[in-house]
Amino acid sequence: RLTSPVDRPAITSELSENVILTSLDDLYNWARLSSLWPLLYGTACCFIEFAALLGSRFDFDRFGLVPRSSPRQADLLITAGTITMKMTPALVRLYEQMPEPKYVIAMGACTITGGMFSADSPSAVRGVDKLIPVDVYIPGCPPRPEAIIDAVIKLRKKVANDSIQERSSLVQTNRYYSTTHQ
Ligand code: SF4
Repeated sequence: RLTSPVDRPAITSELSENVILTSLDDLYNWARLSSLWPLLYGTACCFIEFAALLGSRFDFDRFGLVPRSSPRQADLLITAGTITMKMTPALVRLYEQMPEPKYVIAMGACTITGGMFSADSPSAVRGVDKLIPVDVYIPGCPPRPEAIIDAVIKLRKKVANDSIQERSSLVQTNRYYSTTHQ
């Protein structure tokens, strides 16, 4: 129905109360922000601290983080522990099986640099970021559960500012990354 100019302020006010304008990026990011599902990937003692998060004391679930055992149901990989050379193909494959958009948190000295194995062990990978792209690093041996929560909060800020367009170009880079770093 065509309205007279007299009715317009009333309609404008009604619209502002009932219509939300946003960008597709903001809507998409808002939907993902509180439902990051981490893949259970613990390889050494760091995972004990990660496991502590799952109990009621730290209440990890309040961030919407529900640990998954299948990479196809996960969009967050927290590498908790030492990565060995022998594990490398399996880790890269698990990462590739996760759907986009996906994120990686590297937890602990061993996963970030090889840790105490970096000096003379021929079997430890000196940094998981040589295999897969990492979004947030948590230093420590082992990092406390509070440090993991801090990393998740930092990651959530990153997710909130993600752009679908930039992410799709990153997907191409990740594909290149994982095929050239095995
Ligand atoms: Fe264990 Fe420390 Fe290495 Fe973590 S960083 S896996 S706690 S030795």
